[in-house]
Amino acid sequence: MPIRFTPLVQGLPASVPFTGPETLERRRGAPFKARLGANESAFGISALAAQALHEHIGTSGCSWYGDPENQVLRTRLADKHGIDTDNLCIDAGIDALLGLTVRMLVEPGDAVVTSLGAYPTFNYHVAGFGGKLHTVPYRNHHEDPEALLECAAENKARLVYLSNPDNPMGTSLSAATVQSMIDRLPDDCILLLDEAYAEFMTDHALPDLDMNHQQLIRYRTFSKAYGLAGMRVGYAMGHADIIAGFNRVRNHFAVNRLAQIAADASLQDAEMLPRVLQQVSEGRQRIYDLADELGLPWLRSSTNFVAVDIGSSDKANALLQTLEQAGIFLRKPMVSPQDRFLRIGVGTEQEHAVFAEEFRRLLTAQVD
Ligand SMILES: *Cc1c(COP(=O)(O)O)cnc(C)c1O
Repeated sequence: MPIRFTPLVQGLPASVPFTGPETLERRRGAPFKARLGANESAFGISALAAQALHEHIGTSGCSWYGDPENQVLRTRLADKHGIDTDNLCIDAGIDALLGLTVRMLVEPGDAVVTSLGAYPTFNYHVAGFGGKLHTVPYRNHHEDPEALLECAAENKARLVYLSNPDNPMGTSLSAATVQSMIDRLPDDCILLLDEAYAEFMTDHALPDLDMNHQQLIRYRTFSKAYGLAGMRVGYAMGHADIIAGFNRVRNHFAVNRLAQIAADASLQDAEMLPRVLQQVSEGRQRIYDLADELGLPWLRSSTNFVAVDIGSSDKANALLQTLEQAGIFLRKPMVSPQDRFLRIGVGTEQEHAVFAEEFRRLLTAQVD
């Protein structure tokens, strides 16, 4: 007898269409030499975090449940951002928080707006809770606030999603542009502002934090600049009434104890972030230089990866495959016209060298 899933689950694709690098390694039967496709940090974790993890690796870090209120970390983050602890919800990464957000605000059939080809995990959550996704194209490889607003108003959307800086293109919008979008949200529509790459933002300031706004949730993570993707910890900032909603639906023990400890120690480490930002900035420049050398256009990045224009989607797909066979893990945008780009993560100097050698070889050998 077939298992009787709910109609909603019955209607979903058989699996989330997300292929992790480990799956690819199992397929090719060997580990990658350069892991540049998941926007992870190549530059390690905070020395203070490492020390704290060592101290707590036994009973106090692993055997005990974490504090369900994440009080120590929440207080530290509130201080850092100059907001109240009531304006903060900590959970197992932005991905988990996006799921909670959709769960608490979207009923089956409700309209939700995002950019076509933007961060896909959000879309899986929308599908998973029965929301109806509407998409608008990028404009000049940037997410397009005007089109997002228009689409949200037209469809009476409950949520509109914007990632700034953007993944997969690495581009960013100015604080004034985002603020103007915030100021003109349709009634009853909440903006999910995903700032996973906030720390890398170089070209623009971020909009001021305003915890009185009832139509805005901002998301940050320890996964990227702080190098803690495997530990799963991120946070949402917003109006206390919205945060109270998260507290109704969140899983109390979602954030593991070692993750709480590592995140809190990372915030106390004054040395780490400037070092990583410098390394990422140098790494982006290496990628720009390589693309210039090969005559490939690239987009100036506000993140820890660079989108490089390969010229056509077919070419980009072929390169991705060949690089994968050579032990280099990358990803690329999935939707036209952005799908002619490769998204090249900033790796260590050694990872970059492995990638650069192969990339050069393939592009100079290529006959069009
Ligand atoms: C990496 C990434 C995330 C995931 O963050 P986690 O905190 O690791 O769940 C969310 N949004 C964007 C745009 C990302 O690139």
